[in-house]
Amino acid sequence: MCGIVGYLGSREAYPILIKGLHRLEYRGYDSAGIALINSKLDLSVYKTKGKVEDLENYVADKDVEGTIGIAHTRWATHGEPNSQNAHPHYSQSGRLALIHNGIIENYKVLKEELISKGYTFSSDTDTEVLIQLIEYMQMSHNTSIYEAVQLALKNVIGAYAIAIIDKSNPNQLIAARKGSPLIIGVGDKEFLIGSDATPIVEYTNKVIYLEEEEIAVMKRNGEISITNLSNVPQTPIIKTLELNLSQLEKANFPHFMLKEIFEQPEALRTSMLGRLNMESKTVRLSGIIDHRDKFLKAKRIIICACGTSWHAGLIGKYIIEELTRIPVEVEYSSEFRYRNPVITKDDIVIAISQSGETADTLAAIKLAKDNGAFVYGICNVVGSSIARASDTGSYLHVGPEIGVASTNAFTAQVTTLTLIAMNIAEEKKTISKERIAELVEELQQIPEKINQTLQMNMRIKLYAQIFTYARNFIYLGRGFNYPVALEGALKLKEISYIHAEGYPAAEMKHGPIALIDEEMPVVVIAPKRGMYEKVLSNIQEVKARKGKIISIVTKGDTAVKELSDFCLEIPDTEECFVPILSVVPLQLLSYHIAIAKGRNVDQPRNLAKSVTVE
Ligand code: GLU
Repeated sequence: MCGIVGYLGSREAYPILIKGLHRLEYRGYDSAGIALINSKLDLSVYKTKGKVEDLENYVADKDVEGTIGIAHTRWATHGEPNSQNAHPHYSQSGRLALIHNGIIENYKVLKEELISKGYTFSSDTDTEVLIQLIEYMQMSHNTSIYEAVQLALKNVIGAYAIAIIDKSNPNQLIAARKGSPLIIGVGDKEFLIGSDATPIVEYTNKVIYLEEEEIAVMKRNGEISITNLSNVPQTPIIKTLELNLSQLEKANFPHFMLKEIFEQPEALRTSMLGRLNMESKTVRLSGIIDHRDKFLKAKRIIICACGTSWHAGLIGKYIIEELTRIPVEVEYSSEFRYRNPVITKDDIVIAISQSGETADTLAAIKLAKDNGAFVYGICNVVGSSIARASDTGSYLHVGPEIGVASTNAFTAQVTTLTLIAMNIAEEKKTISKERIAELVEELQQIPEKINQTLQMNMRIKLYAQIFTYARNFIYLGRGFNYPVALEGALKLKEISYIHAEGYPAAEMKHGPIALIDEEMPVVVIAPKRGMYEKVLSNIQEVKARKGKIISIVTKGDTAVKELSDFCLEIPDTEECFVPILSVVPLQLLSYHIAIAKGRNVDQPRNLAKSVTVE
């Protein structure tokens, strides 16, 4: 959610900040702004509703000189998305400017107090309260800006990643975080900050991940000091970024989403690298091997996730229970964290999040750990908060996922959960060596089978033109493919804004069947393996009511094909691996329908890539 960029050094800040904002656009936002201190020590804030491009047009005739600045893309939580509410926000005196990602929960009380002391506000945001509070702390305690930030943050309840510049000290950039991510890039006598590494990687691969409740003070001479809210100095730990610039470009694809869909074969190969041993036909995940006893003793696994990751978790439940016989529960992190769940020290919590910054999942991890559970994190972004908060885990290694609608992270999450299930099953001996060997063989074939599935792209594009009329869609699947139906429906909603519902096929009779008429497209996942006959009957029920069937079947199918209006064939595979293939045509269908409807697929309205607020 929201993007933060900052620069302090000897170069002109404006081009770096604007480029950084463009890199962060994928996270989703509704307005953008920038603050710069020029050589005459003027502090200028420029901001506007809309895209980064609108901001560039707006500042075209303005003074953007300066070697220190901060910039922001806002995803509104408090106050509508307009220019006034956009960040940066000035302090009352106009001396300070601040950008913020997160929510100040007690902003109302603080605002009333500040109003009673004569402060006035020009926006409806919670953020403006924070910068006024910082200035008030500085004036009333007659102290440095750093101490004022510390005092103000001690009074704040909520989540924040912030950056502040002060025109009376143009040689200093201040940043702090709690609950929202913030990364500092360390160059040669220059600093960059970013809410992720994408605006930084072009300039340096040396980074510091700011930790919870830490404040960093960066100086133009290259010095940096980090302290926590209790004023205890922290040693800055510089890490090396594993990200390269080409991963942030679209290559020859028109959209990041399409690129990421097509990257899946390669992404999954990388994801399985070193984990599938083709000689011994075994699986090895260090997160499991290093904590073997925990997994052997585990009485239950609880999977916590949100959105698409939650769907991956549901597939994970089916596979883990099937192969290991350990009971698995799948929870929405946002429900789990607030409902006093039963957690014991024999539980393993698997937390799944592409960005590794999902606020609710991070809170679920904390709750699980406080209750003695062991936490296994699955995320894509290296060094992310969830990776650091978990006891152990696996990275997806699919490279940065820029399209807001998750595609290759989803298939990699399912693959990783499959590897986890196979590895535990091996250790617990719940399935035979021979069976494991068969699964390993087949899993290795999956990237190539995705390649074959992608060959249907042009056909799916044609089908998509036909369905742009639809206002509703139903997606049906059973067993391993029930979560795929949920994911297919979510993908369509996210990027085309067509209402879609995913259902377990047999549940259709208990309600949604009432919606079916000759206008209603029904996508049915009906592979040869797993309750084929039952799904066939469900298709008959839809046909009897004149619904339009789009089916996903196994190559060579005849019975479902005959009943379908449109049919897409995927290669045959083990029943538990079908979701990794069956989701691919659904991703492409959503993409092409959204394109045909003229939607912005990479940055759909109202959505954010990394949901860092609860
Ligand atoms: N809560 C702040 C606002 O609504 C920050 C939102 C964001 O993270 O972009 O302005």
